Amino acid sequence: MIVSPTVFFFVPVFFALVAVFAGWLYYSLRLRAPLPPRRSRIYRCASCGHVYADQRERPLCRCTKCGAMNEALRR
Ligand SMILES: [Zn+2]
Repeated sequence: MIVSPTVFFFVPVFFALVAVFAGWLYYSLRLRAPLPPRRSRIYRCASCGHVYADQRERPLCRCTKCGAMNEALRR
């Protein structure tokens, strides 16, 4: 099988362009649909040590294991 120089040059260029286009399409679609922000707070119980998260914006949250009130560690 004899490959002409034109095919020998343009086939790799074509596949490289397809790869660049696919990457551009992937990243442009991914950046347009960002993940929704998660606004949960992390709590650590002072009495039992249980670590849990709560979505509500409250400074104090009841422990899900023992029921003690705890302050949020971080957002
Ligand atoms: Zn607890």
